[in-house]
Order: sequence, then structure tokens, then C-alpha cells
Amino acid sequence: MSANPKIDPVAIPATMKAWVLGDPGELSLVDKPVPRPGAAEVLIRIDAVAICATDLEVIAGGTPALIEGDLPFNKNFTPGHEFMGTIVELGPNVDEYAVGDRVAVEIHAGCGRCERCREGMYTSCLNYGNNYPGHDKGHRANGYTTDGAFAQYAVNHVNTLVHVPEGMSDETATLIVTAGTAMYGLDVLGGLIAGQSIIVTGGGPIGLLAVAVAKALGASPVILSDLVETRLELGRKLGADHVINAAEESVHDIVMGLTDGVGLNYAFECSGAPNAINDVIKLVKRGGRVCLGAFAHDPVPIDVRHIVSNNIYLYGIRGEGKSAVRRAAALMAQSRFDASLIHTHTFPLSELPEGLRYAREKLDGAIKIVIKTQEI
Ligand SMILES: [Zn+2]
Ligand SMILES: [Zn+2]
Repeated sequence: MSANPKIDPVAIPATMKAWVLGDPGELSLVDKPVPRPGAAEVLIRIDAVAICATDLEVIAGGTPALIEGDLPFNKNFTPGHEFMGTIVELGPNVDEYAVGDRVAVEIHAGCGRCERCREGMYTSCLNYGNNYPGHDKGHRANGYTTDGAFAQYAVNHVNTLVHVPEGMSDETATLIVTAGTAMYGLDVLGGLIAGQSIIVTGGGPIGLLAVAVAKALGASPVILSDLVETRLELGRKLGADHVINAAEESVHDIVMGLTDGVGLNYAFECSGAPNAINDVIKLVKRGGRVCLGAFAHDPVPIDVRHIVSNNIYLYGIRGEGKSAVRRAAALMAQSRFDASLIHTHTFPLSELPEGLRYAREKLDGAIKIVIKTQEI
């Protein structure tokens, strides 16, 4: 864990190490100028960045990254978005933060001028990617539409920053944004869910933190299903009242057994399995709500009859909207769950490709892999 070192502004180097995306799947480590903060921005020394499944998508296929209105290949673009660090320089008139503050960083800074931004839905900004000459509405999304965090420094808008709770390690602090995404999913399902039942399907990082946040908000019971025993075991440690190994048992039969045959209030789908949507709509009771936090690669047929005839509500979430990251950080500051359980591996910046391989192939029980970017 880093302390809170006073940063000497003159010690900020002119250049930094950063990974850039060439052709699909091709990354190279280069020197880039350290960016400088503008109005309402700060310069952050990136201390740790976690690898997300979406990073793998961006590196291999480009989308959902969008640079200068097009795919992000061969544009000197740096991916990476789940990061934390230390503020080393303030832009003009910034007084919300101080040099030396440790912060976790939300991915999206919306344009602030479109209909969705004005409603607080800045992760659904209607000006996504409009941040280049001739099309500059001020939207930014780290590692998607602007340079991300597989690098040593980044500039960010003050709206995207959250103080890292006292005593939390750099590695765990990268999970604040992941917990914020889980929190946002629970927001759209109903927000305060004390005493209401929920199943989370899929025990990846967002699913596991959805279990933890749901439990911290008082949901009861909290159920987790997955195919991997070690992930279910983690789910138990993070607050699941029941875990179901979907490779061995019928999730539907167990849920109906636990609910006198009526089903649950909520389902939060985090597996992305092709038939998951058709499975989860049958786990909630009539009038139940389903949040989709993951998706299959290809379009899937859906049992619309079941959805309509049972008045099921379906929601999709995009990112970590409505300041959910701040609220998730508050739960973590209160030690309501131990997110550090999800962090499994650490690599230095130069070994990013190896970290990505661990994430892609889920090697050695990998769940969350963290890159320490100041270690080359
Ligand atoms: Zn992510
Ligand atoms: Zn906007």
C-alpha cells in the first residue's frame, strides 16, 4: 500500500511509459508525453489498473472504443480503464482535490450538455466519442474514447474522482469502480433492496461485487449461481446466503424451493451466457425485475411471451452511472465487504501482455488481475 507522498510538481517527468494499440491484438510499450490538466482536470500518477473483460474486447476487436469517430487501431491509443492513483497536479481553479490525494477514477465523464448527462446518466452520454477537433462536445471515457490507464499518468475531470478510503491498498482501490458498476445495476433494479430477494447469475468480478453490495444493502436472501466452485466459495465469503453450482444442479428448482414456488424479486445477470436471459426471467416472480449486466456475443432468441405475460421488467446497464461509484466506495470505507478477495494476481507494467493472457484464459484461478504501472 502506498502512503500519501507529497508530490513535488517539478518531479513530474516529461514522458512516460504507455502501451498503445496497433493492429487488432497488437500492443507495444512506447514513450508518450505526460498529459497536462486543463480546467476542471487533474493529472493523476496511475498507481494500479485492473484488467477488465472489456479491455480484452477492445484490444481484440476495437469496440466499444471509439477514437476520432472510428475503431481505435493504429491511433496511438492507450486502453485500460479500471484504475486508481495519486493526484500530482491540479488544473486551473481546481480546489476539490489536493496534490497527494489518492483517488479511484470513474471511466466516464459525460459531455454535461446532452439530455442524458443532464439526467445524471452520463455513462449513456449521447455525445459518446465526441471529443476530437470538429466534433468536440467534451465527452471522455478512459480507455474507450480517450487515452486509458495501461500507462503511468492520466488526466481526468474532477467529476470522475472518488477519494480512496483510508488504509485501502492500491490493488483493492481499483475494484471501487467495479463495485460501482454492481451498485448501478442494483440501482436500476430498485435501489434500496432490504428484505427483498435476489439472484446474481455469474460470479465474475461484477457478479461477485453485486453479491457483496446487495448483501450490504440488506437484500435477503442473496443467491449466486456459477459453474466454478472457487467462485461460488468467494461468493459465500462476500455475503451470498445460498450458492448454486449450475453445472451440477438446477438453478430453477433450487430457487423455486427457496421461494415457495413463486420466484425472486430481482435477478442480476452477469454471466453473458447465451441462454441466460431466458433462464433468469423464469427465476423472478410475476412483476419481477431483471438487470442485464453482461451479454452474449451473438444475438439470442428471447421468450417474449414469458416476459409480457408475467409483467417482467428488463433493464440494461451501461457502466457505472449516477454516481454509483461514490456510494460503492462508501460501503467499502465502512468495511461492509472485503473486495480484496477478488484480486488474484499482480503484474508490473511491462508484463501487461502476460496479465492479459491470464485474464483471457482465466489461468490459475484468475479473477481480477492488477497491473502496478509505476513498476516497469
Ligand atoms: Zn471494466
Ligand atoms: Zn452527454
